[in-house]
Amino acid sequence: MRQKMSCTFCMIANGEIEIKKLYEDKDMIVINDINPQAPIHILVIPKKHIENLLLVEPADVELLGRMLIAASNVAKELSIDKTGYRIVINTNRDAGQTVGHLHVHMLGGRPMKWPPG
Ligand code: 5GP
Ligand code: ZN
Repeated sequence: MRQKMSCTFCMIANGEIEIKKLYEDKDMIVINDINPQAPIHILVIPKKHIENLLLVEPADVELLGRMLIAASNVAKELSIDKTGYRIVINTNRDAGQTVGHLHVHMLGGRPMKWPPG
C-alpha cells in the first residue's frame, strides 16, 4: 500500500493538500512543521505510507538515507548547518509520535538541551 486514505501526511506528500514545499522529489516532500518547536522546524515526509520506523523494510533503506540527506541539505539552504541542527524520528507513544506516517524532524536555529525531556 503506497497511500492510506484519510492519512494527512499521505495527502500532503502526494499533493492533495496545497502547502509550501521546501524540497520535493519523486519519493518525498519537505515542509515546515505547522507547530514549530524551534525557529527552524521542518518535516521530511515520504510519499509512501510507512506507519513508523519499525515498519521500514529493506527496500526502504535507500529512501531513509535520502530523507536524512534531504534534511541536511535544507539545513544548509537555511544556513543552520554551521550552528547545528537536530534530527528526530519519534516512534510510538513514549517518544511522542502523534502522526502515524513516518517523518523526519529537523530542528535548528536555537541551542538545544540534552537529554530531551
Ligand atoms: P510526531 O509527534 O508524530 O513526531 O510529529 C508530528 C508533527 O507533525 C508535529 O510536530 C506536528 O506539529 C506536525 N503536524 C501535524 N499535522 C500537520 C499538518 O497538517 N501540517 C504540518 N505542516 N505539520 C503537521
Ligand atoms: Zn500516510
